[in-house]
Amino acid sequence: MAGERILLVEDDDRIGSTLLRALESSGYSTRWERSGTDGIAAAELQHPDLVLLDLGLPDIDGLDVCRSIHSADETVVIIMLTARDEELDVVVGLDAGAVDYITKPFTLAELLARIRAQLRRAPVAPVPSDESGDLRIDAEARRAWLCGTALELRAKEFDLLARLLADAGKVVSRETLMSDVWDEHWYGSTKTLDFHIAALRKKIDAEGAVSRITTLRGVGFRYEPS
Ligand code: CA
Repeated sequence: MAGERILLVEDDDRIGSTLLRALESSGYSTRWERSGTDGIAAAELQHPDLVLLDLGLPDIDGLDVCRSIHSADETVVIIMLTARDEELDVVVGLDAGAVDYITKPFTLAELLARIRAQLRRAPVAPVPSDESGDLRIDAEARRAWLCGTALELRAKEFDLLARLLADAGKVVSRETLMSDVWDEHWYGSTKTLDFHIAALRKKIDAEGAVSRITTLRGVGFRYEPS
């Protein structure tokens, strides 16, 4: 896992320097920016694997920074650092392209676990593509096509789709999805699973049609082969 590039956008000197030290000593190549403007510029320049983004920045609203970084590169993993009273921002932030959030104050161990879980690529089992249907995936190339058009899937969206397809027609439990796609020791919010399912549905379901992914409330999800 070492050597992955992390961009830290945080205006607080104390938090920023603590995180920088912890990330560097965990083997991540880390760049620290203190404002939204510099963060956006650094993201464009550096193409980080992951962005740790404080929402309360001095110049630009963190959510706008999130949108900007995400629209420039849909594949970058953005984790928001939020204060306790920003619950609403979390929802908006996930919509703006973040994949996860962590509430201040947090422990370094917790943050590093979240980062590892997000950067981890789930091993993808050979997947029978949806033969009769119009969805096809190539597990080795980590690509997917819908009606011949390549899908722009984020890493976790791809892993999730591949995992569901591997058991197409059967229920895959929430616990299995969390441990196979994220991490067996995941202790973040499982809302992140629902968020990714929703994002995936937007990309693979035709408007107005019944979803290819059925929700079994509280239990799990099932991919419906066509
Ligand atoms: Ca701040």
